[in-house]
Amino acid sequence: MTAPATDNSTAAKALAAAGDQDSARDVAALEGAARGVERKLAASRTGLVERLLYGPRPSVAELQSGAELARRVAGSERGVVDAALGSLARGEAFTADSRLSAALRSTVAAEQAFGYTVPAAFGGAGASYGELAAVEEALASHGLGPLAVEISGQLTIGAGSLLAYGDERQQRTFLPLVAEGRPMAFGLTEVGVGVNAKKVRAYVEEQADGSYRLFAEGQANKLWITNAVHGGLIGLVARLGRDSPRLGLFIVELPRADVVPDAAHDYEFRCEPSRVAAFVANFNSRLHFRNFPIPQANRIPADGVEVLFYCLRMGRCMLAAMAAGYQRMLARDASHYARQRVGVGGPVVRHEVPRLNLGKILGGALQAHALAYLSLQQDADGVDLSGLRDLTKSAAAGAGVESMLACEHVLGGRAFHGGSRVNDARVNLHLFGVVEGEDDLILMGMVRDVTQRFVERYLSPLLGVIDAANTTRDGGKLPAEQRLLRIGPATVLRHPTRAIPALVRLVVQPRLWLLGGWVAANALGDLVRLPLRLLPAGAFSRYRALPPPLRAYARYAERKLRMLRWTYLGLSLFYQLELTRAQIPLQRLGKCIEHLVSMLAVCHHAGLGDETAREVAVLQAQLLQDKYRALRLLSDLRGLQRTRGAVAAVGASLEADRCSLIAGVEPQPFGHPWDEPRD
Ligand SMILES: Cc1cc2nc3c(=O)[nH]c(=O)nc-3n(C[C@H](O)[C@H](O)[C@H](O)COP(=O)(O)OP(=O)(O)OC[C@H]3O[C@@H](n4cnc5c(N)ncnc54)[C@H](O)[C@@H]3O)c2cc1C
Repeated sequence: MTAPATDNSTAAKALAAAGDQDSARDVAALEGAARGVERKLAASRTGLVERLLYGPRPSVAELQSGAELARRVAGSERGVVDAALGSLARGEAFTADSRLSAALRSTVAAEQAFGYTVPAAFGGAGASYGELAAVEEALASHGLGPLAVEISGQLTIGAGSLLAYGDERQQRTFLPLVAEGRPMAFGLTEVGVGVNAKKVRAYVEEQADGSYRLFAEGQANKLWITNAVHGGLIGLVARLGRDSPRLGLFIVELPRADVVPDAAHDYEFRCEPSRVAAFVANFNSRLHFRNFPIPQANRIPADGVEVLFYCLRMGRCMLAAMAAGYQRMLARDASHYARQRVGVGGPVVRHEVPRLNLGKILGGALQAHALAYLSLQQDADGVDLSGLRDLTKSAAAGAGVESMLACEHVLGGRAFHGGSRVNDARVNLHLFGVVEGEDDLILMGMVRDVTQRFVERYLSPLLGVIDAANTTRDGGKLPAEQRLLRIGPATVLRHPTRAIPALVRLVVQPRLWLLGGWVAANALGDLVRLPLRLLPAGAFSRYRALPPPLRAYARYAERKLRMLRWTYLGLSLFYQLELTRAQIPLQRLGKCIEHLVSMLAVCHHAGLGDETAREVAVLQAQLLQDKYRALRLLSDLRGLQRTRGAVAAVGASLEADRCSLIAGVEPQPFGHPWDEPRD
């Protein structure tokens, strides 16, 4: 059961009511694509994170379903991974300039790696996404992260788009090519367009015979496209007409070489390295098209951003699996070093701080692994993945970067040894926080997703009251700077003629009483449960399913997650319409949810593991609890507001370019400038 679909979400309406029309339009457009995905997936159950906050509580079996999946698929990765490791052992996996070699690609292609999740009917291996995750994690753990990146791109946003949205003929034509190992990319990002995906400028012109001509020139060049290479395939997002509001998706077969217009060609094409210094072992390109022909049959009948969002849910799970693998590799190399290297007073591994760093790396690996498989099993079970999907990606990417730092502190100078796999991993682990959705943005989106039903039901009519206070007599809206975003004692004193009628309207709102009923029922429920806190976790069958050292952590995480519904209500009542721009509290709330769900996932995953996995889980649960406790929201609203005030001041000074600390320092020109035409 997905959240109720309305034309514009409360978030978009609230942004408009707060006077931020640009954000309202952008958010509504992106949410339109997200709602298309919800309709397509037609999940049969409310998302796990929303249930952890608002109930009903998920069963223990559901929480452990990811661990069961990991157990079931363990070993299935052997064929592909052994082939890849053979290539690595023969010294032929990478070229002299540290890129994935043709020999490695053909070795794993023979094991159907590039068509791993493509159905057998199209020449693929017909594996599940759970089995793909096992391949991804294992490759990354053995120093073959770049191959994992390539296969993930190929099968999630590449073939995934064809499988989910392509028609039968398109699938029959292109999937066998993908399965053979022809690289497949997905191209949305442009020189001028990043996270605001709906703003792409590339467009097609429809021809009299129904075919298309593609124009992606200058700042509409497709940029940073992973797996895009001469002779490869790409699912390319373009507008259906230069100024059309509609976005399409086209399967494009990239020419085997650049094309300049001549007697034989009436179009232009270029594929050149994007020069990005991450994913350096992979193909990553900037693509230029002018008047490029695309057959009518190659249009996928769907909105390109919707398709990307659909595919990203698996992309994010695979990124988490890769992050788990990368961290296992870091843990292996760092612990190997710490056992051999003699530091001050004996081997490095004997000392508490290096041990903590090693434990952090292992804990990060376990966390990413547990969340990846839990998400995959949830998706397979028809549970709405919104919330968990984003949290999984953010937690895995964040843990990856922290593990990299921890590894550097154990390995010392050798963490930076040119050609070492630890050194090579650094940039990719950093990049994981930015690609497939930047972590902070998707965490704030996660908060919106998991609270959406509550907001629609109990809070949205109250926002309407504030909106009315900003409406002029003739029905127009007050200028943005004069609008009330909150109604409280200060506004009543400052703007009594607008705030008092609004307060009166608020009190007679039936929804206010509905909210009152929710508060009363939930407060009563929490009160009744309060004495149960005196009992140890082991007194409840729910926690007896876990080994004793993990029970209290799982219970703590569940209890605190339930308490966060009060935190969200408190933030909503305090900030009211201002919550549309109060990103810091929303991001912090997102982090709180991330840490607690991660704690729970780690406990339940390791609950089915061996003793060493449990030891890692205990440490990671404790570290996550420490992080959660350090984040203060309602308990320190004043501090939070002070931070926001200080941020606003610094931000305004930067916006006006008058910060003295950087005065006199010339900015360096960017790569791929978007304000000057290149063609
Ligand atoms: C190595 C690599 C591989 C990639 N592979 C692909 C690929 O295969 N296909 C593809 O289509 N794309 C790909 N990308 C693009 C990637 O997804 C984008 O980098 C990403 O979408 C961000 O775009 P941007 O870098 O232009 O950032 P921008 O859009 O310029 O954003 C800059 C920053 O501002 C923040 N920001 C923007 N708006 C807000 C807001 N309202 N509130 C708070 N913060 C905000 C963003 O979070 C971001 O951190 C790749 C990128 C790289 C570097």
